Amino acid sequence: MPVPLPDDDSRWRCPLCGNLTRFDVVRATRAREYVHVDLAGAAVVEEREVLDETVERVTCRWCGSVDSVVVEPRPHPAGAPEEP
Ligand SMILES: [Zn+2]
Repeated sequence: MPVPLPDDDSRWRCPLCGNLTRFDVVRATRAREYVHVDLAGAAVVEEREVLDETVERVTCRWCGSVDSVVVEPRPHPAGAPEEP
């Protein structure tokens, strides 16, 4: 896993160009799906539960660098109280 998924307290950043917002992500997902098939045979996924998810590669959309993206602390929005 080249870089962890960001959570509520972290974000991705490309250290080469400073990109914070655009990434191409290749991820392997194992999921349980409720598939509803109509009588004509068209299937629609109505519920989806992710059982396991692994990020395999993150590519910076701006400069194209592979596996250089890092996780850093996410800044608190202006006005939000700081966590102790
Ligand atoms: Zn970049």
